[in-house]
Amino acid sequence: MRTPLSPLRLFEPRSLRDALRLLADEGPLVPLAGCTDVYVSLNAGAPPGTRFLNLWALDELRRIEVRGSTLMIGALATYTQLARSKPVQARLPMLAAAAREIGGIQIQNRGTIGGNIGTGSPAGDSLPVLAAAAAVVVLQNARGRRQVPFNRFYTGYRASVRRPDELIVAVEVPAVDGRQWFRKVGTRAAQAISKVVMAGVRADRPRVALGSVAPTVIRATRTEAVLAETGDVAEARRALMTEIAPIDDLRSTAAYRRRVAGNLLERFWADTGIADRRSPIAD
Ligand SMILES: Cc1cc2nc3c(=O)[nH]c(=O)nc-3n(C[C@H](O)[C@H](O)[C@H](O)COP(=O)(O)OP(=O)(O)OC[C@H]3O[C@@H](n4cnc5c(N)ncnc54)[C@H](O)[C@@H]3O)c2cc1C
Repeated sequence: MRTPLSPLRLFEPRSLRDALRLLADEGPLVPLAGCTDVYVSLNAGAPPGTRFLNLWALDELRRIEVRGSTLMIGALATYTQLARSKPVQARLPMLAAAAREIGGIQIQNRGTIGGNIGTGSPAGDSLPVLAAAAAVVVLQNARGRRQVPFNRFYTGYRASVRRPDELIVAVEVPAVDGRQWFRKVGTRAAQAISKVVMAGVRADRPRVALGSVAPTVIRATRTEAVLAETGDVAEARRALMTEIAPIDDLRSTAAYRRRVAGNLLERFWADTGIADRRSPIAD
């Protein structure tokens, strides 16, 4: 049954400062960004709370800019913005590629990177990119900011270190050296939640991150070590099988996910191995 809306309360701050004060004084409040995930739970009659904080008017959280060697992405940046952003295309093309494959156009216009992080689904498509890019999540409350390496942000299934009075305000991405690669495997090309999603960086120390193969998105560090030390992708595939723990669920089976994860690893290595080949993510 749908959630009746009349008992719900909505706070509408006009600045980040106001939003953080409301979180401190009126909390706990459920932040709302594009609402594409929250609305699904409201529609299903399982609201994440009864008091909400609408962030949509906070344009200061929408900026994408380069500061020194760091790409700064505001939490409210939408997938449409990310896919079109020149700095993202130039520095983090695997994120532009992920953004183009998330949902349909309506979802891309509303869905935000902060919301994808906030939901923390193991199938969130931007998350392996952030893991492979060694991104940093910037959290802020009324008292100040802190930076949490993305790879330490989640503590379990949909659980994170974010405190109730904190907002995700930005993601900082250091320069990524090497060839970037992204691939999402779902039931069909559009509007499908990933069965397996992978982002990789081909460099002296390769990076491999996957979604939908564990309770959280993971960096496959043993697999990365085998690739760095031996370059033997068959051996790396065996290592990968020891560090993923996919499950059977509505969307797929554990066995299929294992097979696909191994295939994606081999594809990553093959696609990024030939130096003069067209960018593996420029379709
Ligand atoms: C039809 C459909 C298709 C979809 N397809 C995909 C897909 O292909 N790939 C994919 O990864 N996802 C997909 N999604 C899920 C969703 O669109 C994404 O997770 C999106 O990024 C959520 O962003 P949002 O701004 O809408 O988040 P919201 O729904 O507003 O919020 C999501 C969660 O994050 C929290 N939150 C939001 N912003 C902040 C913040 N700044 N600080 C702290 N907490 C915050 C909220 O409290 C909530 O818990 C789809 C959803 C729908 C309905």
